[in-house]
Amino acid sequence: MREPLESLVRTINLSGTLLFRLKGNLRKFSNSVKENKMRNQLLNVQCGLCSDKGKWIKLFDYPSADVPQAEIFQCGTCGVIRNASATEIETSNEIIQSQWVTDGFYKLPAQEKDFEEEASHAAGIFPWLENQLGLSLKNLTMLEIGAGSGLRSAGATKFFREVYSSDSSLDLLNNLKEYQLGKKVTVLGENDLWNHKIDWIIGWHVFEHLKVPSEYFKNGHEVLSSSGGFFFQVPLLSPKNVFPGHHYFFTQTSLDQFFASLGNYETQYFFDTNVEALTCIAVKLS
Ligand SMILES: [Zn+2]
Repeated sequence: MREPLESLVRTINLSGTLLFRLKGNLRKFSNSVKENKMRNQLLNVQCGLCSDKGKWIKLFDYPSADVPQAEIFQCGTCGVIRNASATEIETSNEIIQSQWVTDGFYKLPAQEKDFEEEASHAAGIFPWLENQLGLSLKNLTMLEIGAGSGLRSAGATKFFREVYSSDSSLDLLNNLKEYQLGKKVTVLGENDLWNHKIDWIIGWHVFEHLKVPSEYFKNGHEVLSSSGGFFFQVPLLSPKNVFPGHHYFFTQTSLDQFFASLGNYETQYFFDTNVEALTCIAVKLS
């Protein structure tokens, strides 16, 4: 009686193992089909920075804030990093921005004192820029894109002669108060965004949200005065920073290559691993 029972147990175990292996193989097969599908979709996607097509190299799957594993690719031509889950889960800037307004992520402080304090804090990047450039910004103009609540633009009026500000959602910007000197921020809509000569274009955590960030740089390049430039900060690739709203992660190589394609730029990069961000100053030399 023992032998048949043992043989039955062995058979069950064997079947279990086989089933387990089969399941594993099926999972691998379905993952590879999914990966190939993603890769094939990406083959037709132009790089948002260098515009090259079909040069995507799969780097790895990465933990993401919104999906279990985000597929991370790199452009084989310029090296910019693309979060494929941002393409898979379609999120337009307008939707995200309006959500952030509704959720209160973007808000203007009701109290005058808080407004002054927060605007001043957000504009703390400008004395730092003056220091890096070794010059004063006070006779210059600036345009902030993706300005959100506009606090930084308000604070910037203390440092620049003229401040232009824009965002895909203008509700908050249109209600922006004057800050300290009584100088008003000029709010620009999408249609008149590139109609003014600008010395500095500021983008604080905005270029990673754009599907085609090169468009903004190219348009900006056209309106930038010589010896003006771009001053921006973008998140570095990290688990905290991967979520569908973030399409691109920029590297020094990808940006250097891109600015060289635009014109004669002198670039400086500041990597801060504490806040997981890259700050770039790109000065237009001619
Ligand atoms: Zn590229």
